[in-house]
Amino acid sequence: MSSASEAEGAPAAGLAAPVTACRSCDGPAPRAFLSLGATPVANRLVKADSLGAADPSFPLEVGFCEQCALVQLTHVLPADEIFDADYPYFSSFSDTLVRHSEKHVIDLIASRGLGPDSLVVEVASNDGYLLKAFVERGIPVLGIEPTPGPAAAARAAGVPTREAFFGAELARTLVAEGLKADVIIANNVMAHVPDLNSFVEGFSILLKDDGIIDVENPGVGGLLANNEFDTVYHEHFCYFSTIAVDALMRRHGLALVGVDEFAELHGGTLRWRMQHQAAAVPAESVAAVLGAERSAGLGTFERYASFGDDVRALQAELAELLRSLRAQGRTIAAYGAAAKGATLLNSTGLDNSLIDFVVDRNTHKQGKYLPGARIPILDPAVLLERQPDYLLLLAWNVKKEIMSQQEEYAARGGHFIVPVPRPVVL
Ligand SMILES: [Zn+2]
Repeated sequence: MSSASEAEGAPAAGLAAPVTACRSCDGPAPRAFLSLGATPVANRLVKADSLGAADPSFPLEVGFCEQCALVQLTHVLPADEIFDADYPYFSSFSDTLVRHSEKHVIDLIASRGLGPDSLVVEVASNDGYLLKAFVERGIPVLGIEPTPGPAAAARAAGVPTREAFFGAELARTLVAEGLKADVIIANNVMAHVPDLNSFVEGFSILLKDDGIIDVENPGVGGLLANNEFDTVYHEHFCYFSTIAVDALMRRHGLALVGVDEFAELHGGTLRWRMQHQAAAVPAESVAAVLGAERSAGLGTFERYASFGDDVRALQAELAELLRSLRAQGRTIAAYGAAAKGATLLNSTGLDNSLIDFVVDRNTHKQGKYLPGARIPILDPAVLLERQPDYLLLLAWNVKKEIMSQQEEYAARGGHFIVPVPRPVVL
């Protein structure tokens, strides 16, 4: 994960600045299609002793570049507002993600013929859990990770890790040290990168002539199809379609050679595979996905404008549902104190007057409050003690898991509310 500290022209502390040019093609400012109001930074949980101070709020608005089709936020926050010392770090990964990563490693080793003379580089390598699988098979690796805690954990686990931000400058340094990559992996980081062009130029510099780059990120197509507007937050600068990735890569001498889709990951993840244009032989999946995205309207403003209308309708429906339940004397709690919960609540105007508490299994979050909505975060065990009538699933992406864990809550008469793609009571 990168930080906004590399952002060019970062505004002075405390102020958000409008984006004046596309982050990818440097074309005209993105055309806004969805405003989620002025909201606090979604990951910044409030401690009990800070409840007296107001949460700083910043515009959260999404726009579309009519030149290269990249979806992006229309405002830039001051860097120190996004990454403060309390930024939550999650070292645990779901079983689904672990299985997905292991398969990726095994596939890469076989398909690329990796061995003791190869080099696999991962950007935003976190605590090294993915690279460790290569190390165990005798394949040299290098992790690039800007946050000190995870970088130290990775080194302790035997994964060589450079504590740095990735971009063209670092890539040149590594090449000067004699390093070139057979494989570059960058999972769930590209949306956080303030200087996209330096980032992708870095890929091009560091990659061997016949090497491959695998980039995974949730695709904007899934976001639109499922009304996942709550995955928009200040730390996510960009929301990628394959159309936009294709344009970005081409400008840096790279070409898409494959696109894989993983519907079960993060509400729909895409893996874009790139090589140097001179070495690239695109798989049929590239043209197929580009064609499907164009047919779905992902290259035009109109599709995004209609998504904006859908989101406003969803928000009105959800707010009306909760207010009417409350008016009938029902009690409501929520499940999942993640960033997307904060976006959903704050942009929909739902706060502690409607929702009594939110539960989350992460003990580091318990005892704190969701920013803006100011809803206390408690241990899930409280659900059976207080038995609220309704439970709003903010972590709807793992609704099956939550509902099976909370069978007792349901058996005692509790109801679940799933907010997206349209609010439903189960
Ligand atoms: Zn653009």
